[in-house]
Amino acid sequence: MNLNIKNSFTNELPADPILDNTRRQVYKSCFSFVTPKQTTNRELLHVSPEMLENLGLSEEDSKSKSFLKVVTGNQVLEGTKPYAMNYAGHQFGSWAGQLGDGRAINLGEVDHNTKLWTLQLKGAGETPYSRSADGLAVLRSSIREYLCSEAMHHLGVPTTRALSLALTGDQVLRDVMYDGNPAYEKGAVVTRVSPSFLRFGSYELFAARQDIDTLKTLVNFTINRHFSYLGKPNKEVYIQFFAEVSQRTLDMIIHWQRVGFVHGVMNTDNMSILGLTIDYGPYGWLEGFDFGWTPNTTDSKHKRYRYGNQPNIGLWNLYQLANALYPLIEEAEPIETILNQYKTDFDHKSLQMMRSKLGLQNSNENDKMLIQDLEDALQLTETDMTIFFRNLADFKKDQPLKGLKIIEEAFYVPSELTEPIIKKWNTWFHQYVKRLQDESVTDDQRNAKMNKVNPKYVLRNYMAQLAIDDADKGDYGLIGELFQLLKQPYEEQPELQKWYAKRPEWARNKVGCSMLSCSS
Ligand code: AMP
Ligand code: MG
Repeated sequence: MNLNIKNSFTNELPADPILDNTRRQVYKSCFSFVTPKQTTNRELLHVSPEMLENLGLSEEDSKSKSFLKVVTGNQVLEGTKPYAMNYAGHQFGSWAGQLGDGRAINLGEVDHNTKLWTLQLKGAGETPYSRSADGLAVLRSSIREYLCSEAMHHLGVPTTRALSLALTGDQVLRDVMYDGNPAYEKGAVVTRVSPSFLRFGSYELFAARQDIDTLKTLVNFTINRHFSYLGKPNKEVYIQFFAEVSQRTLDMIIHWQRVGFVHGVMNTDNMSILGLTIDYGPYGWLEGFDFGWTPNTTDSKHKRYRYGNQPNIGLWNLYQLANALYPLIEEAEPIETILNQYKTDFDHKSLQMMRSKLGLQNSNENDKMLIQDLEDALQLTETDMTIFFRNLADFKKDQPLKGLKIIEEAFYVPSELTEPIIKKWNTWFHQYVKRLQDESVTDDQRNAKMNKVNPKYVLRNYMAQLAIDDADKGDYGLIGELFQLLKQPYEEQPELQKWYAKRPEWARNKVGCSMLSCSS
């Protein structure tokens, strides 16, 4: 493997001087050097061809013994010194103190085609940040992260990427529903790739400890490496940096809302400083359109991270980041302006996003009402979000009464379509027809536009679970099939039409399908 390795993170930031891998608080350091765990019987299950190419690797390279050894942590990639990052975070609204990479080990950066990619092994063993856990990952959650992060990229959602999925050959003990029934599962490692894995919590850590020197070093590094277009770090640039992070965070969340993605654990340690979707844990996809839905059973009581609350939580998290950056900025007003801007931008951008989902190009003062009425209608009875918007593209503006027929496939319980509900839908379709008259595009042109923003295929929760069930039995074929399907989420792919379907009934309340925990 011939990779152009750079180690800017470890070369330019302060390292933990202690080298033994014991659990502890690590001060004044951005990372600790660690060695990945050796495993017994490793096996490569899948590789992302796009990521191979991005890194300058060939398919041949990915078939080599050393590739498998590197991506399972059994051989240190030449020229790198693996490390775990130190960070803190707010979890479910409360300060959690130091967290850090408890089961992620970074290798180093690969410089290819003027891009710098950090490679990270998730599930490669203990670090000083593993706290009471084992530093390992199970196959089930690794399949979910591997498939979803690549699928999100192809949906056009900013995200960290995945290079490979491999079995370690070792067994890992997990209590999936935290009910005192632990069981052994197959251990796995996903090699994740991103320009950076820095999180809001990376900055919160040093601010909370009033270690302003290290905070400043880290912020300067971040700006020089990832926001260099803002200029040399100074007070003014720190403010602009915060404005950039705020904007990217909002843009990412608007994309989530567009495709119906629910992250599930938007703790500040899971918020990328680059505005990328990061840490795929108990995430899920909306099936029935429901602002109140969350897949995460750990959050089932308060539903803090429910679909409809994601934009608010993005803002809440930015407040925490703002507090962390304050010692460098020392002025509240510009920060408040940025946070207020988030709210204004949210209103504007989410309206634009919803317009695009409806195929509307112009703006009309009644659009807010049209969208509000639609969101109300979608929640009258369980209505599949993906199928609804995809089918809506076939709506003809001179046939409002056919509207219901076009979308009827999206209803989970057709018997719930009572007269009043049917009437509401027909009223909405009439509103929509009226609105479409302000547009100059033809039905066909609108159809083509809508099909570029409303995906036909997303990684429905039960689809990932089917791949997991097969994989548990040693059949890994479905991982490849879904990977391939989700590479072109906006294309018709008629030969794979079977995946354009509502969640089957068996998956409604099945663990792994609609109920997920943080246990991974
Ligand atoms: P998460 O909820 O997965 O983002 O994890 C929150 C914190 O727990 C992070 O510091 C993780 O590194 C750590 N963590 C989660 N699972 C494990 C594990 N199996 N072993 C060690 N640390 C873990
Ligand atoms: Mg995390």
